[in-house]
Amino acid sequence: MNYKTTGLRSWMVLPADFSPAHRWSGYDLERRIALDSDGNEFAYYAELEESNSLSSADLKNELFNNDLQKVNVENSDSIFRFSQRYGLSPSSVYAGKQRLLWFRHRGLIPYRFAKDKYALGYDEDIAASIRSYSVGKTNPMTSGYMESAFTPLLLSEHARKIENDNGDVRGIISELEIAQTIRLLQIATQLCMAFQANVNGDLSGAEYGTADAVAAYLENKKFLSQRGFDYFLIAPNLSRLNSYETKLKSDLAFQQKIAQAGEFYSDTRVPAELELAEDLYRAATDAYTFLSRSLFAYKEDVSDEILASEEKKFFDLPDVLEKKSELIAEFNGMMAGEDSLPEAIIAQFFDSFNNPVPWRVCENCNKYFKRYREESPGKNIRETRFCRRSCNVSFNQRNS
Ligand SMILES: [Zn+2]
Repeated sequence: MNYKTTGLRSWMVLPADFSPAHRWSGYDLERRIALDSDGNEFAYYAELEESNSLSSADLKNELFNNDLQKVNVENSDSIFRFSQRYGLSPSSVYAGKQRLLWFRHRGLIPYRFAKDKYALGYDEDIAASIRSYSVGKTNPMTSGYMESAFTPLLLSEHARKIENDNGDVRGIISELEIAQTIRLLQIATQLCMAFQANVNGDLSGAEYGTADAVAAYLENKKFLSQRGFDYFLIAPNLSRLNSYETKLKSDLAFQQKIAQAGEFYSDTRVPAELELAEDLYRAATDAYTFLSRSLFAYKEDVSDEILASEEKKFFDLPDVLEKKSELIAEFNGMMAGEDSLPEAIIAQFFDSFNNPVPWRVCENCNKYFKRYREESPGKNIRETRFCRRSCNVSFNQRNS
């Protein structure tokens, strides 16, 4: 049995149904610090003067593979620089874009709706969650995460409450909410890409096409600023997604398991590879689902049911039915034509992911890619040996 040909099975996914992102608003940002009710500091970004309107054409090709991966979600400067350049990244986990738009349009009825909705009793939650939550260390797709996942949302709403009457400020979003969004996008796009590239047999060479190759890619510091099992893992049992070599070095239970497997397998990589492949399959499928659903979440309007249940809680008004139709009309008007940065990033990702051209490995930096970074967007994919101009240049300098 050859472990190199076992393990990964073919991965059938339906193409994501998406309409490409068009335009979103960019603002001059300011990073501000405030205290929560417990006296802990937290940061949020305030949109000041509207500076420009951004579109997909302002992003280099495959941003998910370049600037997005360079953001260090535990470093404020890094998050701020990225946001200043490309715009804010509201979360898709809980209608982040909708809430941001609500706040930008305050004064309209929908803002009152948003304010009422989140005004009650969140300070305690913020304090509790801040103590238990660190965005860089918590696995975003485990069940425990969801309990703490609302901290970014609550901090955004807390900051909005602080700036409620400040007419100089447009949108508000907590730094933690942006960090959460960016991290989820970093993880999901790389997992899907590394998995598809190895499953489809896109990459020629003995070192590709195995589950270990996928895991090794996610651990490689040459092209991923943030990497490794504690960053990328989405399966319930985190350490299982390490590559064989890493586990053998660091995981005592795994060493024992491999010693036992030696009685049944001449090559102990076989059972390890099969187990890893199963976990990666699940993780990549989750990541793909997350990306598709995110697009959906960003486009979603306020539904009748949501409004109806919120009304019961917060609107004790006789003319509530009339208000409801006003709310829907106002809100859907706001959503029309306003996209967001995460939508554009995901749409770019699916553009490459769904294209039948195989993934390639850059001969300089070893990154997987399809589209040359500096190629004008929308063109057919050109086959090149390098992922970008600078890789081409440094390769030639080294070899001349
Ligand atoms: Zn490269």
